[in-house]
Formats: sequence, structure tokens, C-alpha cells
Amino acid sequence: MKRIFRLALLLVLLITSIQYLAYSNVLDKSESDIKVTIIYDNYDFKDGLKSDWGFSCLIEFPDKTILFDTGARPGVFEKNLKALNIDPQSIDMVVVSHDHYDHTGGLSTFLELNNKVPVYILKSFSDKTKEIITENNAKIVCEHELTEISKNVFLSGELQGKIEEQSLAINTDKGLVVITGCSHPGINKILEHFKSSLNKDIYMVFGGFHLMRMNDEEIEQIITKMRSLGVQKCGATHCTGKKQIKQFKNAFGKNYVQMGVGNVVEF
Ligand SMILES: [Zn+2]
Ligand SMILES: [Zn+2]
Repeated sequence: MKRIFRLALLLVLLITSIQYLAYSNVLDKSESDIKVTIIYDNYDFKDGLKSDWGFSCLIEFPDKTILFDTGARPGVFEKNLKALNIDPQSIDMVVVSHDHYDHTGGLSTFLELNNKVPVYILKSFSDKTKEIITENNAKIVCEHELTEISKNVFLSGELQGKIEEQSLAINTDKGLVVITGCSHPGINKILEHFKSSLNKDIYMVFGGFHLMRMNDEEIEQIITKMRSLGVQKCGATHCTGKKQIKQFKNAFGKNYVQMGVGNVVEF
């Protein structure tokens, strides 16, 4: 009899905890659908992670997970992945913005952990980078023009700069959220491209802006242009330049999106 009672109690406890888990899951989803975690960045944010020159972030949708860029040093990239409890197997696709070492560095290490992913690069990438993908038996995908790679997720296609680069845009109810690697083609050229191709305002933009040689006045002009494209929230990091990042912070105030390794942006 006692045993039956214990068993019944255990069953009730189990059902209650399952219900609680299901409920909390629903709550999480209603708060925010899309979550971006910064894996690799020049700037610190959270303890236990390593900052270093480079960029990488994880974009999580309810039904899909995308790795955007892979940082510079494989060891740092892998250490940060582990510290952030990111399971490489949970990643469905990889996007590499451009063929610079500080964005491709962790690619080989990642593909050794999960090669069942398409890797979106550009046709102009070096043979060396392409070989990293093919040697790991992963699939190369090159999109020349703007393409929807997953529902409401767009790649810009090839944009010309010091080096060809692609950026990613997510279509949300509030407008487009744009993520950039280094912005070598020019940050506003990238934003204008998405706005005109998708006929929608830019709501948020973050990543590397590559503006370290720009003076205060030039940054001011870039911010004014950004606002005219609809930008409400902005996070500048990686290769933007320390002084220039400060200027973005001041200009956007409470709408500035904090960057740094381990930070999470939800929208
Ligand atoms: Zn870079
Ligand atoms: Zn670069």
C-alpha cells in the first residue's frame, strides 16, 4: 500500500514538473522569438569568456539556428562555444560574411564538430577557405544576389568593397534586423541594399562597421543617414573603432544595443 502511495506521489510530482516546463517554455517564446548570442568579439561582456579581435554570433529562431561568422582563433572560438553551452550539433546552417581570417578562423574547428550544414560563402572566397569546407564534407552555397535562405532570413548577396562581403537581414514585425561582419562595402550601402530590395525599413543593425578612420563629423553623417533608413536601434562593435563606438553609444542612448562576448540580443 505504502509503495503505491509513494508511486502515486512521484507520478503527481512528475506531471506537475512537466506542466511547469511546458508553461515556462511558452512564456519564453512569447517574450522573444529571436535570440542572438555574441560568441566572438573584440570586447568583453560576460565573465568566463574570452574577447579577441574577430566576430561571430549565433542566431536562434524557434525552428532554426544559424551560425554567423566564426571568429579568428579556433581555440578561443571553441572555448567560448563551450562556455556558452552552445551545442554545435544544434546549428542548422553557417554564414561566413567575408574571407578575412577574423571571420573564418573557427570554421574548420566547427565543421569537425558538425559538417551536416550548408556553408554560405561567396564565389570570390579563396580556394583555401573553400577547401576547409569541402575537406570537412560540408556543402558550399554561394548566393550572388539577395536570397531568402530560411523563412524571413535574407542574405544580401555579393556587395563590393575592399573585399566582397555579404550581410544577413531578418524580417521582423518591427522592421529589418541587419547583422554585419566587417561592413567593408560600407554600413549604409548594406542597409540601403536591404531596404530597397525588401522594401522595408531597417529597425536594428549590429556587428562590425569598420569606421576606425572616420572623424566625428563623418560618423555623425553616417548616423543621420542610418536614421533616415529607419534605424531605431544600433550596436557597433568589432572593427568599428573604439572612439567611433562611443559616438554611436551617445547618439542612440537607451536604444544602443550593447555588444561584447556573451551578450544576448533579443527581438
Ligand atoms: Zn573583421
Ligand atoms: Zn574584414
